Amino acid sequence: NRKPKILILGAGYGGMMTASRLQKGNFHQDAEITLVNKHDYHYQTTWLHEPAAGTLHHDRTRMKITDIIDTHKVNFIKDSVVSIDKENKKVKLDKEELDYDYLVIGLGSQPETFGIPGVYDHAFSIRSVNSVRLIREHIEYMFASYNKQDEKDDSLLTFVVAGAGFTGIEFVGELSERIPELCEEYDIARENVSMYSIEAAPTALPGFDEELVEYAMNLLESRGVNFKINTPIKEVQDGKVLLDDGEVIDSQTIVWTTGVRGNSIVEEAGFEAMRGRVKVDANLRAPGHEDVFIIGDCALIINEEINRPYPPTAQIAIQQSYTCANNIKALVKGTEEELEEFQPDIKGTVASLGGKEAIGVVGDRKLYGTSASTVKKLIDNRYLYLLGGMPLVLKKGKLNLF
Ligand code: FAD
Ligand code: NAD
Repeated sequence: NRKPKILILGAGYGGMMTASRLQKGNFHQDAEITLVNKHDYHYQTTWLHEPAAGTLHHDRTRMKITDIIDTHKVNFIKDSVVSIDKENKKVKLDKEELDYDYLVIGLGSQPETFGIPGVYDHAFSIRSVNSVRLIREHIEYMFASYNKQDEKDDSLLTFVVAGAGFTGIEFVGELSERIPELCEEYDIARENVSMYSIEAAPTALPGFDEELVEYAMNLLESRGVNFKINTPIKEVQDGKVLLDDGEVIDSQTIVWTTGVRGNSIVEEAGFEAMRGRVKVDANLRAPGHEDVFIIGDCALIINEEINRPYPPTAQIAIQQSYTCANNIKALVKGTEEELEEFQPDIKGTVASLGGKEAIGVVGDRKLYGTSASTVKKLIDNRYLYLLGGMPLVLKKGKLNLF
């Protein structure tokens, strides 16, 4: 009597929390659970703007997967997913091939470039520990290089953040805190450094509370950030950003944050997708594939109130992991009548602005300044608590709350 095989792809918020839910109790006696991830660590995507700017060490954002997953109950395989064969229920990894009875796809996102030329070749992205380590090192290298030249090249100290969505704003917030430190360290006058936040829409953080957007922009401007709003970027070249209005900014550091799309593996597997995200059914399964759950940034769910997709967030990925784990248990136990429908419960949005500053809306309350920053740290700690309890909060949490 073969145990059903559950295969979870990706150990981000969605995958990691699904594995953690499935390992509770004795469910491993009824099913063989396997988690596959590219790295042997889980990282907090939502913290990556900090190590990117160098305001937090990247090790604070990551943790060894086997420190959290009980390997007596869940097999962990460190390998990269190459492709998914949904008809034959197989997944090809770099080093081996696995088969499954139930699949959970939690492979996260990749940068959305909208086909703008030059982005892949000349811009950085805030995507993984490796990608942000590169940004931090590159920024420091720019400062170190500037002094070496007799004829100063200002493009070395010009930093462009493409897109003023939450990722762009959180990153430029950290960067604006880090620049004065770097100026001091490399004996460079602050006025030699320029920071740009470039946004196509008529406002930064489109759709967010206007008063809070204004607070954020004023604060960041006071720290030296130049906003160019209503100004789409049309091309990136080596050392240059070309704007729609004809302006060209010479910059050796372009960080691309114009949004995300679902991991391309999902679309390549033949699932129907919009910007790489599959519109899942109420139980979080791919339409026509009752054995495939898709969660996190690879999944698309519609906010019925406004008839538009929910923005992909960790908040939703984490909530989906509970429904996904419960539904897998129901299917394995043969109690299909217990399948749950996913209902997001959006508690709010809080974005950090670097230092002790943040903005946010929680329930119907607007927050800014230190109180928002404290709430942001509590949110970060809450996730650690859900994943690994108090020991993980004490090990990796943001304990300096005020
Ligand atoms: P991820 O958490 O991104 O995990 C995907 C995992 O899959 C990774 O571990 C990766 O290594 C692995 N993987 C990818 N490809 C492969 C492969 N081929 N083979 C094997 N493994 C693979 N959301 C919020 O709710 N609140 C916030 O405050 C917030 N802040 C953010 C700040 C930043 C800077 C960014 C970039 C995003 C932020 N988000 C926030 C969005 C949030 O991070 C994502 O929505 C969330 O990470 C999605 O979770 P996921 O499980 O789908 O993917
Ligand atoms: P986003 O889609 O939220 O923002 C991208 C921004 O780039 C938009 O404002 C868009 O108008 C702009 N843009 C697009 N093309 C452009 C161009 N050619 N030139 C200039 N600007 C351009 O994407 P994101 O900020 O990467 O966030 C991804 C997801 O993660 C979102 O769902 C977001 O809500 C979530 N997130 C949440 C938080 C938080 O809650 N604190 C933080 C970061 C990210």
